[in-house]
Amino acid sequence: MSWGVPSPFRFLRAVPRGLAALPSYVARRHVSRPGGRPEQEVRTYYLLPTQWSLHFVMTEREWQNFKERVKGAIPDWARCPLCPKRCKATDLDEIWEYDHQDRVKRFSGAQFICRGCHWLKSPTWRMETWTKAAEGRLPAPSEPPHIIDCLGWTEEQVEALRRRDLEEHGLQRQQLAHIQVEVQAGEAIVRPWEVDLTLLGQYGYSAQEIAELESRMRDLAWRRLLGR
Ligand SMILES: [Zn+2]
Ligand SMILES: [Zn+2]
Repeated sequence: MSWGVPSPFRFLRAVPRGLAALPSYVARRHVSRPGGRPEQEVRTYYLLPTQWSLHFVMTEREWQNFKERVKGAIPDWARCPLCPKRCKATDLDEIWEYDHQDRVKRFSGAQFICRGCHWLKSPTWRMETWTKAAEGRLPAPSEPPHIIDCLGWTEEQVEALRRRDLEEHGLQRQQLAHIQVEVQAGEAIVRPWEVDLTLLGQYGYSAQEIAELESRMRDLAWRRLLGR
C-alpha cells in the first residue's frame, strides 16, 4: 500500500501490529485420546501481545528511575528527535525490534519524544482516537494536530493511516477468531513471543535485574494471551 509515510515514521510499515487478548480456554493443551482417531497435527501460533512493554511491568518507582537513567544517557533528551520542529519531549519511548524469524521482541533502547510523535508510534492510542472520532467523542482541536502542523502530513495521508489502522484491526480480529476456533477444536495451541532485554545493560541494569524484568514480561505475555 503506498500512502507515503514521511521519514522517520517508516517503522509504521515494518512493525507488526499487536494481537488482542484471547479468552482463557486457549491455554488448554491438545491431548491425544487413546483409542480415538489417530493423533492429528497440532499447529502452534505465536502471538505478539499488545501493550506489552517495560512500562507495563515496572512499578511507578522503577519507571521514574528508568526515565532518569535515560535522561542521563542522552544530554539533549528534552527535544524530540523524531520531528522537524523538535517539539518538547515529554514521553519516554521504548524502542523495540521485532525478530519475526525467532519471534522475539527485542529491546534496543529508549528516548524521550513529544506527545504527537508518541501518538503516531502507538497503534493502541491511534485506534482509541479513531474510535472516539467515529463516536463523536473527540473534542474539536483548537489548533492543527501535530501530525499535520509539525510532521507535515496532509489530511489525505492522515485519512489513509486511519483507514489502514481500521482495516488491519479488522483483519486481526478475523485472524484471532479463526485461531480460537482451531484451538477449541484441539487443532492448535498458542504461545506468546519471547522477549530480550539484554540491551537494558546500556542503562546500568545488572544481568540479574534484566532477567527479573524479562520474567515479568513473560508472565505478562501469558496473562495478555489468556485475557486476564
Ligand atoms: Zn516529536
Ligand atoms: Zn513536533
